[in-house]
Amino acid sequence: MQLAQRNMYRFPWSANDNPIGWLEVTDKCNTYCRGCYRINGMQGHKTLDQVKEEIQLLKRMRNCDNISIAGGEPLIHPQILEIIAYIKGQRMKPLILTNGIRLENDRPFMVELRKAGAIGFTFHIDSEQARPHWKGKSETELFELREHYADMAHSVGGLFVSFGMTVYPGNLDFVPEMVAWANRHIDRVHGLVFIGFRNAMPEGEFDFSAGGQPINPEMSYIKGNTTTEEAWLTSRDIYAKIKERFPHYETSAYMGGSHNHDKMTWLVSAQLGTRRRMYGSSGPRVVELFETLHHLRHGTYVIYSPSNIIPKIAFLLGLVDKGVRATWREFWKEVRKHPSELFSPLYMQSIGIIQGPDLLEDGRVDMCESCPDMTVWDGKLVHSCRLDEWRLYGDYITCTPRKQPVGANGAVIPAESIPVAAAKEAVPGD
Ligand code: SF4
Repeated sequence: MQLAQRNMYRFPWSANDNPIGWLEVTDKCNTYCRGCYRINGMQGHKTLDQVKEEIQLLKRMRNCDNISIAGGEPLIHPQILEIIAYIKGQRMKPLILTNGIRLENDRPFMVELRKAGAIGFTFHIDSEQARPHWKGKSETELFELREHYADMAHSVGGLFVSFGMTVYPGNLDFVPEMVAWANRHIDRVHGLVFIGFRNAMPEGEFDFSAGGQPINPEMSYIKGNTTTEEAWLTSRDIYAKIKERFPHYETSAYMGGSHNHDKMTWLVSAQLGTRRRMYGSSGPRVVELFETLHHLRHGTYVIYSPSNIIPKIAFLLGLVDKGVRATWREFWKEVRKHPSELFSPLYMQSIGIIQGPDLLEDGRVDMCESCPDMTVWDGKLVHSCRLDEWRLYGDYITCTPRKQPVGANGAVIPAESIPVAAAKEAVPGD
């Protein structure tokens, strides 16, 4: 199927009704990831009181189903267990975004996190990190480490586990390998998240200011630690790369851009399969039904669930969803050849593709429409990918093109120079 908005469900989220609340408990990190949005250790760990206040604000303003606990590296916060328990006590799902280093040799700590109420982890592991003992390893060599975390969480039980990586033109070809690996471990890997690397890199073309004052921006994504050749990757490119190798893969939901309505900032797919093989992907109707029913029943939209086992009765959704129908057909073909497949558990595995903000020619920044990762700064909601602009300059940075777009220089256009289509001569009786 063609990748087009009309073939997908548009997430109905908004700033005030969004399944995700983004909480940064610290800005300290125990490693370095290329492409990280955050300046390491500028402010340190937040106090428990400050964190609780932010959680309350997210709950009130966002109506969240889950709180994504991020940083910095959240697992090095000394009160992480209390934070998780507090979120759970507020009837929201705590999900931890981590590089996993703190957990690598500490399964009992994972058990404690689970007991405190964590519903799962998104592990960020990629070859562009300066990870102790794994520095210089290729993406393929890092499968051993990913598997270690997936096995650990599986043995603890009841945890959502997904893996994220930043995608650069240089590792784009690896994306299908990652999908193949996740498909083979569908019983313990619930999802993948691919974040296309972006940076503004407009040096020489824009003037920058914040709060009306000219500035020289310090953020990695503007100053850049890379070249413009690396900044072109879009969610469509990543989608196409996966599709090239996996015909069963299809996307079911999307989110657009705040200015560019052709862009797909988030693309989400729900693949269906067993440990033996993948059969297909759900279509847009299933996601629409899932979001609507969750909102009717719980009053919130949803994105994470700790279990990915799907009862086979769910194939009945094929009555309303083309994707499920096609998956059902594939499944039955296989059952005829291998009847034991009928008794294999069926799983759902998500793939999320995120394309970050773009700086447009006229100086506007195209964000993710209804950004799911808004966080708290000074009592208000700001986009977490641009939080450092507030931390450094107390405002979003404004970019002004040095070359003004034609017609935008404030000049008055003489009326006689405005082209007007020749008026049709009035014909009596017309
Ligand atoms: S706009 Fe929101 S969802 Fe998009 S990259 Fe920034 S923080 Fe993430």
